[in-house]
Amino acid sequence: MLKPYLETMPDENGFFGKFGGAFIPPQLEEPFREIREAYDKLSKSYEYLHELRKIRKHYQGRPTPVYYAKNLSAFCGGGQIYLKREDLNHTGAHKLNHCMAEALLAKYLGKKKLIAETGAGQHGVALATAAAYFGLECEIHMGEVDIAKEHPNVVRMKILGAKVVPATHGLKTLKEAVDSAFEAYLADTETQMFAIGSVVGPHPFPRMVRDFQSVVGIEAKEQFFEMTGKLPDHAVACVGGGSNAMGLFSGFIDDPVQLHGVEPMGKGEKLGEHAATLTYGEEGVMHGFNSIMLKDAEGNPAPVHSIGSGIDYPSVGPEHAYLREIGRTIVGTATDDEAVDAFYKLSQYEGIIPALESAHAVAYAMTLARANPKDAILINLSGRGDKDIDYVIEHYPIPPKG
Ligand SMILES: *Cc1c(COP(=O)(O)O)cnc(C)c1O
Repeated sequence: MLKPYLETMPDENGFFGKFGGAFIPPQLEEPFREIREAYDKLSKSYEYLHELRKIRKHYQGRPTPVYYAKNLSAFCGGGQIYLKREDLNHTGAHKLNHCMAEALLAKYLGKKKLIAETGAGQHGVALATAAAYFGLECEIHMGEVDIAKEHPNVVRMKILGAKVVPATHGLKTLKEAVDSAFEAYLADTETQMFAIGSVVGPHPFPRMVRDFQSVVGIEAKEQFFEMTGKLPDHAVACVGGGSNAMGLFSGFIDDPVQLHGVEPMGKGEKLGEHAATLTYGEEGVMHGFNSIMLKDAEGNPAPVHSIGSGIDYPSVGPEHAYLREIGRTIVGTATDDEAVDAFYKLSQYEGIIPALESAHAVAYAMTLARANPKDAILINLSGRGDKDIDYVIEHYPIPPKG
């Protein structure tokens, strides 16, 4: 019998085909080996998995439901749309799934402090939550520009007890925050652990974070089957780094289900106006791994834009690059305007305000439903939209229903 996909990928060096790996400075090789070996051991440990299961049930509120979006399906007039409700996970998004598991790993390793970078602050908030739960210190590096822009998340991190360190060099956004966080981590790899926020970064993070998120797909498959007696025809998720998408895809990767990753097309096709990495990018190494990335004329990470602040990343998880290359996934896009339209439609027709990131998947799925009236489509609704309401209402007037 063939081995299940998840057991065969990545290889022992963290490669998915030619993508992935660990392109790191020599000082990081030892601490990353420690994390890798600990994960290899703990991922087979009953005690660790049992603890994680308990946390997910009693603290995070898992399993999150699968919901049949009857009104939205009727509005689209085509296929049937279902939502995996990660917006109901504690803290309002899927990110806590891997943050709790990373923090539990840090606890087992005897670490005292979690370190990470954050762009819009979502990963920072989820990690600060996990740190509070486990009694760990937490230090979040964030560009000065992002700190000014994402005030509510900065306040949340501080209330949760995290220290927010501003990155003050260069453009003062995500890239500088990554540099700053790595520098702080290098100063003490003994008592600190680096906790990456998506299926990106050097090996073993793309694999670890995927495995931690796979709970989404595993639950969804069982729930969907219980509701309908079959598998969905399509599974759809937005892709920034790619963790919520890999979480959903993991449940269906060996099944005859079409997997769709939806990238942000922003304001248009010109470089700088979007963050559609797989759609327009080329092979390249950044942040310690080989994948597809958007490059500027000098070959550096290009400026990107999306209305979804959690999906404007100029690279993408290596597994997504691989799965697209072998033809296992389909890569689609949604623009800012399409995402806002889906944001309002889901709110008005179902009473669910989605995160703008998740709204990209909803927008794409609405088009897919119209084109495939016989099909069932399962969307990973990665997060709730409370964080986005002020921005949306200021820039996009409420449309009449219909
Ligand atoms: C961070 C975030 C994303 C994007 O991250 P992935 O790793 O691509 O899943 C998507 N949706 C929400 C709600 C987020 O907070």
